[in-house]
Amino acid sequence: MMDNLFEEQYRIVAENARRFAQKNIKPVAAQLDMEELKPFDIAKRAVRELFGGDSIQSVEELEKISEDRDILNASLITIELAKAAPAIVMAIGASLELCGATILSKGTEEQKASYALPLFRGEKVGCFGLTEPEAGSDVMGLKTKAVKSGDHYLLSGTKTFITNAPDADIFIVYARSNPQAQGHKGITAFILERGMPGLETSKPLNKMGLRGSPTGEIYMDEVKVPLKNIVGTEHRAFYELMSTLRIERTTLPSMAIGIMERVLDDSVKYAKQRVQFGQNIIFFEGIQFKIARMYLALQHSYAILFLLAQMYKAGKDITAIASAAKVYTSEEAVRVCLDAIQIHGGYGYMKEYEVERFMRDAKLLEIGAGTTEVQLLIMARSIMMEDQFYFNPMFTPEDKLDGSRLI
Ligand SMILES: Cc1cc2nc3c(=O)[nH]c(=O)nc-3n(C[C@H](O)[C@H](O)[C@H](O)COP(=O)(O)OP(=O)(O)OC[C@H]3O[C@@H](n4cnc5c(N)ncnc54)[C@H](O)[C@@H]3O)c2cc1C
Repeated sequence: MMDNLFEEQYRIVAENARRFAQKNIKPVAAQLDMEELKPFDIAKRAVRELFGGDSIQSVEELEKISEDRDILNASLITIELAKAAPAIVMAIGASLELCGATILSKGTEEQKASYALPLFRGEKVGCFGLTEPEAGSDVMGLKTKAVKSGDHYLLSGTKTFITNAPDADIFIVYARSNPQAQGHKGITAFILERGMPGLETSKPLNKMGLRGSPTGEIYMDEVKVPLKNIVGTEHRAFYELMSTLRIERTTLPSMAIGIMERVLDDSVKYAKQRVQFGQNIIFFEGIQFKIARMYLALQHSYAILFLLAQMYKAGKDITAIASAAKVYTSEEAVRVCLDAIQIHGGYGYMKEYEVERFMRDAKLLEIGAGTTEVQLLIMARSIMMEDQFYFNPMFTPEDKLDGSRLI
């Protein structure tokens, strides 16, 4: 594990990812979006070559990698991939950060070997089924039923908006296993596999952006799932879910940063060559101010990501800061993309220039993994509920300072 962003090792990680993205993703990125091509060949290769999949031989090795998890390392790779095609990041994120990480952190040894290993080795694709047609932000309202019967559960219900669902091999599905228990009690997470009788998935839904990342529905009609496929503690999955979502909220800021960096780069290049009123438009102050503000948003986003990574590494509670990073970077990414289109004028509105694709992709960041409004609630509740909430990131509640706030 490294301590300093400016260590050579980080630069090598970013450069490798950049080379990979330029060679394998950039040439097909527009086509992935326009023709809604499947991202999985590239995503699996990225898992193998960039995220270490090729070198993972055993569950022990996988666990070691997970213990040493360095947000910055993963973020630098994600940024480079997102600069080429955010859809590839979605495919990898759902498979590793959501499905794979849940199994790795809460699963049994057998589950880790059978399911987590092939996901992290880039051999199989996973998805994470939480959202339902009537339960989005209100996760606890989920209606998928799990009825216990001997050595198995029967799962029935529908999940919607699930990244990778149309093509996934391995599914994590959350279901209500105890109908008597209200709210967050009585929810269990299960591992399902494609091919189980009663399990079907939809075609990809028709989306605004991230069109190279298939999003679909999962239909379950009395799917027989053995008890050994329960991940984590029966009926207690809601509590365990929160830590998974916190980790996901550390991934999305790097996707936002990748998007901002790319459209800023495109905008500067465009403004340097576009001539109006006899000069390159980059010489107009109105354009320069936009570019400077885009740069400011990008650097702020890097700063909050580095802070988050440091706090995670130091074992601090990242609940509030992860939500803050997600809200800040996603809102800025959308704004920066709109500015990029404005700088490109009418050409920015055309598909020939790619800034419009990045704007459509960026909008998801304000919705997925908990909407902006939900993140604001999480931050506000952290601040309200702690006896002493430390606004200075050096201190978090577990530091238990002796009562003095110095103010
Ligand atoms: C491309 C894409 C990929 C996705 N991938 C996955 C996936 O892999 N797995 C998965 O499980 N889900 C996935 N989702 C679902 C995503 O997590 C949900 O869309 C999101 O949590 C919001 O739920 P909802 O769409 O039902 O909106 P709703 O919850 O109905 O929200 C509608 C609006 O009401 C606001 N709102 C709701 N409650 C409150 C409140 N208490 N206070 C203030 N405002 C509130 C919301 O912020 C939003 O603006 C994906 C979604 C998309 C679009």
